[in-house]
Amino acid sequence: MARTVKTTCPYCGVGCGVLATRQPDGAVSVKGDPDHPANFGRLCSKGSALAETLSLDDRLLHPEINGARASWDEALDLVAARFSDAIAEHGPDSVAFYVSGQILTEDYYVANKLMKGFIGSANIDTNSRLCMASSVAGHRRAFGSDTVPGTYEDLEQADLVILTGSNLAWCHPVLFQRLEAAKAANPALRIVTIDPRRTATSALADLHLGLAPDTDVALFNGLLSYLSENGYLDEGYISRHTNGFEEALGAAGACDISRISEETGLSRQDIARFFDLAARTEKMVTVYSQGVNQSVTGTDKVNAILNVHLATGRIGRAGMGPFSVTGQPNAMGGREVGGLANMLAAHMALEDPAHRSLVQSFWQSPRIADRPGLKAVEMFRAVREGKIKALWIMATNPVDSLPDADGVAEALKLCPFVVVSDVTRAADTMDYAHVALPGAAWGEKDGTVTNSERRISRQRRFLELPGEARPDWWALSEVARRLGYADAFAYNGSAAIFREHAQLSAIGNGGTRDFDIGAMADLSAGAYEELPPFQWPARAGQSLHDSRFFARGGFFTPDRKARFIAVTPIELRKRERKYPFVLNTGRIRDQWHTMTRTGKTARLTSHIAEPFAEIHPEDAAALGLRDASLVEVKSSYGAVIVRAQISDRGNKGTVFVPMHWTDQFSSKGRVDAVVAPETDPHSGQPGSKFTPVSLKAV
Ligand code: SF4
Repeated sequence: MARTVKTTCPYCGVGCGVLATRQPDGAVSVKGDPDHPANFGRLCSKGSALAETLSLDDRLLHPEINGARASWDEALDLVAARFSDAIAEHGPDSVAFYVSGQILTEDYYVANKLMKGFIGSANIDTNSRLCMASSVAGHRRAFGSDTVPGTYEDLEQADLVILTGSNLAWCHPVLFQRLEAAKAANPALRIVTIDPRRTATSALADLHLGLAPDTDVALFNGLLSYLSENGYLDEGYISRHTNGFEEALGAAGACDISRISEETGLSRQDIARFFDLAARTEKMVTVYSQGVNQSVTGTDKVNAILNVHLATGRIGRAGMGPFSVTGQPNAMGGREVGGLANMLAAHMALEDPAHRSLVQSFWQSPRIADRPGLKAVEMFRAVREGKIKALWIMATNPVDSLPDADGVAEALKLCPFVVVSDVTRAADTMDYAHVALPGAAWGEKDGTVTNSERRISRQRRFLELPGEARPDWWALSEVARRLGYADAFAYNGSAAIFREHAQLSAIGNGGTRDFDIGAMADLSAGAYEELPPFQWPARAGQSLHDSRFFARGGFFTPDRKARFIAVTPIELRKRERKYPFVLNTGRIRDQWHTMTRTGKTARLTSHIAEPFAEIHPEDAAALGLRDASLVEVKSSYGAVIVRAQISDRGNKGTVFVPMHWTDQFSSKGRVDAVVAPETDPHSGQPGSKFTPVSLKAV
């Protein structure tokens, strides 16, 4: 008989519910779950093609040591021995984990616990660093916690939705579908897109602001000044619930539209129209994503946006608030368990001795990391410098996806011991593994993920584990056991891990921290199996929870007040520019990350079949380039050769190349080899949307 399972899409941070049906002959079909509050039955092209990606082609089905098949015992014994030797000889900071927003919360929890509590280092970072670390840093600076205040419904209840640095139509398509439906139902809803490129999202906009790259702070500072000078502040909210407004306003300066026009490249008319719209529309949501986060000034951009919402009290109320939309399916779950090098578990602060003591005593761990570990880009730099002796990479493909990707490959060649856990052999990072461990794929693994609106949903298993594949939490626990920590990692399944995670979230909390799912602390295995999607907080003993934060203050700072952050724009003219063009990278609609899954289906690869460089017509004419001619895009780090796509979607002087292609799919299209490994000083997030490059006809 056919069996249908409710699960969650493994791609973007919208976190759509999926009904996966398996027929007796093994055939699988998927459709949107009409009961899931993220998508109400909708799916995008990627989600609806999930069943086409389940073949075992390219699967890693057995552990391997130096490319030869090995047993799990042999592989795990070797991993434990090499990590143990490195720690004994060089200390806990000589080892590192690099994990992923693709893994489930339960896997993330175990990885973080092992590294921070038992190995005693905070050298665990994640590819989510490339995705939303600037939002985390901005939230923590302003709110004292990494809290997303709003919900998806806010986009439907707003009268003005500002999308800045977000191509929602391609990167979060179901949320975009909800926005389209909201606009159809409410013609008064205005949409503004702020992006150096006109995209599929800007086609829905009433106003598109094609600003110069990395000038968002100048624009939002200008808006703050405009609101102040024209009497649109919420003085009551500012005085009751915030600190630092005068300093932030002082840093923003007077609202001089001519100056803002010069800094951003926008016309004075468009700026004035935007400011007027934002001033007069109370129900305003600002959605922001990688165009804001992936910048060397990303955290300041986030705070410039948060300043505007705090100054108008437009936060945590229906149809109002700043909204960080995450790229990956479980970037939020990773944040909740503390799976970043500068965070502790359950949204506790690594720098807070009381939090460290609380976590250590809950885990009964022999030690606890007491200083931040290496963030993604720093981690691979340390590998290259010989400081990391053993590295475990899990469910991510850094030799294709990190900036200066060739430098990452060099680093891995030099690393004495590299473990790679993945489901696929097609990830280029596999080539550098001393030990390869076969993970469980979507449909085979069991656990939870958290979407961009703080909603925790189950990913459920509906396929048997193929070959000798095992969940990542199991492999981590087995290594922990071999390191001498059997009792602390004696999990019999993902339900037990989730229960422990929920218990930790409630310990010593009492409303002093935002993340609390204590209501799940005693969840039985059966109840975990049946767990419907729910939003946090879910505090024990409280049946009703606000689905939004901060409408009445209650921030997670010591005095419970939000902090305005004084931010100033970086001076683009002073930025080092060895090359004349600015490279911007990003997603396309039908591919996911380095294509190891979406590249398997003809339906998805037929949307855009090969990488391209989108070049402004005037630049193309000056370079002698025609549509489809080959062009070399080169930086100080590397080069790609791709086809030119002549278009005025972007500004003159800029070039856009999609991020997905690896050498396997296109011999010269691996764009992260070109991207500069420069990072934001607060968040450590790379500025993947601003690399100076040259262009040359080939
Ligand atoms: Fe999956 Fe995102 Fe598409 Fe939803 S919008 S189906 S979560 S890729």
